[in-house]
Amino acid sequence: MTTDHHLKGIKFIVRLSTDEIKQCKHCATPVGGDNFEDGVNHYIKCHGYKLLHMGSETVRDFEDNLCNTTIALVGLGRVFDANAYKIGD
Ligand SMILES: [Zn+2]
Repeated sequence: MTTDHHLKGIKFIVRLSTDEIKQCKHCATPVGGDNFEDGVNHYIKCHGYKLLHMGSETVRDFEDNLCNTTIALVGLGRVFDANAYKIGD
């Protein structure tokens, strides 16, 4: 049996979490945290990523309490080249 795995052809992965705010690797738009779903949509719509995985993760907060976060992995079918996305200053 052959499997057409959804990771096939993926060369670069980004992890997004409701627990942390980052900047988009391509254009510095805030992604993650309160912008979690907007961030996932941003990578898909603006930069051609595919949603590879979405799930929950249990982490500890700064007071050592357990909390649940949601994470997403989005993948790009080409090698990420940071120099190709430099923003003019
Ligand atoms: Zn972007």
